[in-house]
Amino acid sequence: MRPARATINLEALRHNLQLARQRAPAAKLWAVVKANAYGHGLERLLPALGSADGLALVEIDAAVRLRERGWSGPLLLIEGFFDEKDLALFVRQRFTAVVHAQWQLQMIERTPLEAPLDVYLKVNTGMNRLGFRPDAVPAALERLRLSGKVGSLTLMTHFADADGERGVAQALSAFDAAAPAGVSLPRSAANSAALLRFPETHFDWVRPGILLYGGSPFGWDAGGGSSAQQSAEALGLQPVMTLQSAILAVQSLTPGERAGYAGLFEARRPSRIGIVALGYADGYPRHAPVGTPVLVEGKRTVSAGRVSMDMIFVDLTDLPEAGIGSRVTLWGEGLSADEVADCAGTVSYELFCALSARVPVEVVG
Ligand SMILES: *Cc1c(COP(=O)(O)O)cnc(C)c1O
Repeated sequence: MRPARATINLEALRHNLQLARQRAPAAKLWAVVKANAYGHGLERLLPALGSADGLALVEIDAAVRLRERGWSGPLLLIEGFFDEKDLALFVRQRFTAVVHAQWQLQMIERTPLEAPLDVYLKVNTGMNRLGFRPDAVPAALERLRLSGKVGSLTLMTHFADADGERGVAQALSAFDAAAPAGVSLPRSAANSAALLRFPETHFDWVRPGILLYGGSPFGWDAGGGSSAQQSAEALGLQPVMTLQSAILAVQSLTPGERAGYAGLFEARRPSRIGIVALGYADGYPRHAPVGTPVLVEGKRTVSAGRVSMDMIFVDLTDLPEAGIGSRVTLWGEGLSADEVADCAGTVSYELFCALSARVPVEVVG
């Protein structure tokens, strides 16, 4: 069997969930599981998600499957409903709907509903992606109330820069300004970065995603960086996904010879290059440059050629004991996905989400 495989560690997920709880002890917790649990496989994670207060996702079909699989707790649909049919389904399935735009208000007003709809009213506090501007919130709340179709009502927002230099101060004051005087509604704001960095954002419900999977919301601190930047390891997070394969061929290069498409790697010394059975069709980023870290039998080395569809090249010159069949770790235990992502000009979120369906998955823990 082709040796590429991903290992999903449920014990690590439970640990990270517990860590989120400890960091936001007073808040309830939505485990964000959109995009098939950031590529980890939502259904295979369910046994470790039981202690979450609710699950938040974008995909309505996946939410329906969660109900079929017996998840009877809260489900938050982060982009809400898209048409009237969805709306009827939301009520039947008791999905909580994010309401972020006028057209959704109108749809609620004109669509007969069999039962009240639980609503997260989204406030645009500077991200300028979804949501009502703070000054439009009181009127939106009034329309929801007048519709007579709303059950519970929560105010939510999403931060644009909780992991960055601007932080959340401005967004938080906009969020405060949105709540009409004398109205005290539950609130939800914190993603992973805000949960870890800004306790004042915890409110009633936190919404961590990446930290549950063991990725740092602050990316990879390649030394220097702002004080906000902290590695997953320093934060106490454990990797849930480990991506591995093995070496299926070894080439000996003399100085001046090249490896891979476009000859991006050139041997400076007599070199042993290992060919690993895993490429961009498995989810390894094609943009990872020569020099991206890789573990071979637990020892660090680097990639040595352009990533191809089914294979990558690794430098074995300083690992004489490595050869055909040696296990290679692309990210996960022993090698931070944040570091690999940083090399490839992206974030661990994207690496996880890109894990391809052709990679067999083994669940442990
Ligand atoms: C994806 C998402 C989150 C989780 O973000 P992380 O950075 O992964 O913690 C929280 N809230 C909303 C609305 C999201 O779309």
